Amino acid sequence: MIFVDRAEVSVPASMRSDKTLAAYNAIADVIGKTRRRRPTINFGIFKTREVKTALKMLFAGKCAYCETPDDGAHGVDHFRPHTSAAGFSGETSVHYYAWLAYEWGNLVYACTTCMNSTENMFPVTGERAPILASFPKFGNGGQFTPIMSV
Ligand SMILES: [Zn+2]
Repeated sequence: MIFVDRAEVSVPASMRSDKTLAAYNAIADVIGKTRRRRPTINFGIFKTREVKTALKMLFAGKCAYCETPDDGAHGVDHFRPHTSAAGFSGETSVHYYAWLAYEWGNLVYACTTCMNSTENMFPVTGERAPILASFPKFGNGGQFTPIMSV
């Protein structure tokens, strides 16, 4: 995985918009609190040219996972999946990590091979972080820029 300094690229405006905050709050209001169905992830927030361009710049035009140079098909991927994170034995955690769907620090630039191979796999040793844990609590030293707080 490529190390990047998130401070080198500004968080795209679309990731800081009222629309993004509302989408985040809609998820945060439901998961882990009620049996209501979680709102659908709004792909239009992060699958934009602006976000893709910023991620391409941040990852120097390479896949964050395998470092393959962009072949024109690279795209936006979630490091932690936005739904049903799967563990080592295939068990899934349905709400993991929906609350990070709009988190700039959770987005990476990736090739189609890596995006297709990772899907919702995100095994962890031990227990997952608590639902709605803020991004710095994942042990990354706060290098990412959390834009939402819970
Ligand atoms: Zn790759």
